[in-house]
Amino acid sequence: MAGLEARPRGCGKQSGSQLSQQPYIGRFAPSPTGPLHFGSLIAALGSYLDAHTHRGRWLLRMEDVDEPRCSQAHADEILRVLDAYGFEWDGEVIYQSRRKALYQAALERLADAGLAYPCACSRREIADSSIAGIEGPVYPGTCRDGLAGRAPRAWRVKVDSQPVCFEDRLQGKHCQNLETDIGDFVIRRADGLFAYQLAVVADDHEQGVTHVVRGADLLASTPRQIHLQRLLGYAMPAYLHLPVAVNAAGQKLSKQTLAAPLEANQTGPVLVAALRFLGLQPESALAHAKGAEILAWASEVFLPAALPRNQATASA
Ligand code: GLU
Repeated sequence: MAGLEARPRGCGKQSGSQLSQQPYIGRFAPSPTGPLHFGSLIAALGSYLDAHTHRGRWLLRMEDVDEPRCSQAHADEILRVLDAYGFEWDGEVIYQSRRKALYQAALERLADAGLAYPCACSRREIADSSIAGIEGPVYPGTCRDGLAGRAPRAWRVKVDSQPVCFEDRLQGKHCQNLETDIGDFVIRRADGLFAYQLAVVADDHEQGVTHVVRGADLLASTPRQIHLQRLLGYAMPAYLHLPVAVNAAGQKLSKQTLAAPLEANQTGPVLVAALRFLGLQPESALAHAKGAEILAWASEVFLPAALPRNQATASA
């Protein structure tokens, strides 16, 4: 599918020399739907340490695009806990809920180029007429050629059958066929809110993010994001997907699986456990140090190449 600006296609491995010419800009992008837990700390710590190892900047972005599920109180609590753990971010904290004009402009560029279209289908209609994909039903393209007089609900972006591949810095080569795995996907929801996939791509581009380090639960979203980057003519950041922390039952730590919130008075032991999860070997005595001191120690010894690839049980 031709994008808005011609960009090379194919497996988008960026060479080290290409990346080293740019300053490193990384980010941590929590969704303020609840308190941070050990799993979110892994994403914060991994992205922070990678940025510091590269002498880069580390931005903080509140992904509150799904406004009904987010709150300012959760965002404030996240900032308080990050601060207690010794994290320092560069620049102002960005809130997605205040950047709708940016997402609207991206949507309009896609729509004007015929790459996105309004969709009148309800969830139920789609479920009844679709085959299963990797994240629910594959949209069968019903509204691609027009609404047939029906009222528009969501906006979708067109996908094609060209596999989207990228070389993850930790997980290796990852490919997806968006046409058979996902289908034309939603970029603006029926309730008028912008979809995470569009917001994250517009923000990473606008903030100049060169390196994305986050949990492997988002690996399956990355081809959709790369597809949008290509259509919008944006550069692709380098990706590193960290192993996901799971509980004793093998479930990803999350609000849904009732992961324990990070305690602001337990910073040392929890940070030491998180560093071990990331393959570092801090001495147990480091658990008595302040968060900022632990992060400074870890920034000196962190090696992205030594990260474990697979999911592991949180030992905090
Ligand atoms: N906001 C997402 C989350 O909390 C992370 C998005 C990203 O890092 O791209 O899971």
